[in-house]
Amino acid sequence: MYDLKIVGGTVVDGSGGQRFDGDVAVRDGRVVAVGECPEPAARTLDARGALVTPGWVDIHTHYDGQVSWDEELAPSSIHGVTTVAMGNCGVGFAPVEPHDRQRLVELMEGVEDIPGSALSEGIRWGWRSFPEYMEALDRMPHAIDFVCQVPHDALRVFVMGERALATESATEEDVARMREVLREALLAGAAGFSTGRSDNHRSARGEATPASEAAGRELAGIAAAFVGLRHGVLQAVSDFDILTGDERFHPEFDLLEEMVAASGGHAMSVSTMQRDHSPEQWRWILERAERCRARVRRALPGRRPRHRRDAPGSRRRSTRSWASRATRRSATCRSRSACGGCATPSSRRA
Ligand SMILES: [Zn+2]
Repeated sequence: MYDLKIVGGTVVDGSGGQRFDGDVAVRDGRVVAVGECPEPAARTLDARGALVTPGWVDIHTHYDGQVSWDEELAPSSIHGVTTVAMGNCGVGFAPVEPHDRQRLVELMEGVEDIPGSALSEGIRWGWRSFPEYMEALDRMPHAIDFVCQVPHDALRVFVMGERALATESATEEDVARMREVLREALLAGAAGFSTGRSDNHRSARGEATPASEAAGRELAGIAAAFVGLRHGVLQAVSDFDILTGDERFHPEFDLLEEMVAASGGHAMSVSTMQRDHSPEQWRWILERAERCRARVRRALPGRRPRHRRDAPGSRRRSTRSWASRATRRSATCRSRSACGGCATPSSRRA
């Protein structure tokens, strides 16, 4: 006897496999059967014409401030999202020294267009380190799940203070300290690390973001914090120096690949869109991401995905994390022959 049976729907189970028609049965608050559900149920829901899913994961959000005062995490929860990943694009509110709080608010306001007045009035500051930030968030209930990524800009300001300007290079000591702080956060449960390299992203004062010109040495040095960990993702938003010229694309993408390599092969997601200044750039991103993935796989044979049998009607598939799957999906260049990335001068050398 089930407590609940959802019948006649189209099941999309979140594993990346094909959707299929089937029933879902719940007992004691847990899904106990998917596909064939032969037992009677105390309650039955007719889901014909609807999708039946375990939920939606939004891997790119900026709730970092709102999550400290809003239990509902609206509007994502209203839209059916069940897990949000925060701390993207290098901006966020931890770690932070008390005297840098306003600077981080101005960064978020400028980069993500979230009103600084709302952030200043709303954020319930009560943390300094990243683990303290996560503990503060855990102390209040939330309608949906969330995961926190450590943002590069906040990390840089925390470690380097006034020197964390776009034009200032991090010293070896700075990099070592940023790696140490990130490692501490990851071990405490942070989901990853994000960085932003966009010339369009400015603080509310019009200043470049602190990490926008970080050197490869810094990016790779920080990413080494992931080595040996079984969890953790990287995220990057970059315009790949689009205003300088398309020839900058590949050197900029090289930096992201170096981060992945330095992390020991952890998954990275790269924000992708069609930009007016370089309409073909999104194709180059997909093409490079696909090549990067193949290279990392070859270099790390021990990290080949394991497989398991999933729900009825599904094929065998990877059990790697949702973030990893999302990255893999976005990395597929569907029109290889038309891929503009293959035609750029710096690509031909590769
Ligand atoms: Zn973003």
